[in-house]
Amino acid sequence: MRLALLLSLVLLSCIDTSAQPSSWMEPFPAHTIAGNLHYVGSTDLASYLVTTPEGHILINSSFDDSVPLIRKSVEDLGFKFGDIKVLLISHAHSDHCAGSARIIRETGAKYFVMDQDADAVENGGATKSRLKASYTRFTPARVDRRLKDGEEITLGGTTLVARLTPGHTPGCTTWTLKAGGLDAVIIGSPNVNPGYILVNNQDYPGIASDYERCFRVLKSLPVDLFLGAHGGYYDLPAKHRRFLVADGSNPFVDPEGYKRYVEDRETAYLTELARQQKLKAAGQPNP
Ligand SMILES: [Zn+2]
Repeated sequence: MRLALLLSLVLLSCIDTSAQPSSWMEPFPAHTIAGNLHYVGSTDLASYLVTTPEGHILINSSFDDSVPLIRKSVEDLGFKFGDIKVLLISHAHSDHCAGSARIIRETGAKYFVMDQDADAVENGGATKSRLKASYTRFTPARVDRRLKDGEEITLGGTTLVARLTPGHTPGCTTWTLKAGGLDAVIIGSPNVNPGYILVNNQDYPGIASDYERCFRVLKSLPVDLFLGAHGGYYDLPAKHRRFLVADGSNPFVDPEGYKRYVEDRETAYLTELARQQKLKAAGQPNP
């Protein structure tokens, strides 16, 4: 039963396909990345806490069952879960937003979501999907503010910028902020999931141009701290092991790793696009 559940999560949800599902619910040590930016997620489902004197901002609620892990991580760092004032997400897939309703209930946080993903969040993922297979549904949550590309969210002297990096979902959001004087980039997702239709997609006609926009934006951002919606994007466990060695360096500062990751993901996207275009040219169905 548990195995079946894990398999269905792999098949149906938003994934970096290299990620192992056991890493999604596995606790990971909470740590301060830089300045007032902290990691409070599991081994692979990334959640970030931005702390300020006027309350905190949390990025990604993950699954409903992730919420106690996130709460413990926040408290391990010496902060109060109830001080979370604003909840944000990377995109409207269950592994980043299914726990939102519970977090809002427990903290009273306001929920800000990129406009193009807000309907999916409010109807629990029931929006007509571009995927042939349906993906995991989740508890709906009411959105307090629908965000536009470039919109700034400021709390207690810290400003986060919502960058629309669409394709993976229409409202996929990459968050940027200054943390400890460094440029932090939290990538929303540049990945093409199994089953995504990139050519002649009736439900999401602009998907290919959206992916192009996503890569254009990601390549344009100034980066010191390379972060993302999954720990696997930026080799979190390996970097955290180096982080524990107190030599004064910060392994999360990795502009070269960021560049390599974005280029690798763009190549993967272009390869899949070419494969689907070839099928179409040959008059074959796109499975
Ligand atoms: Zn996803």
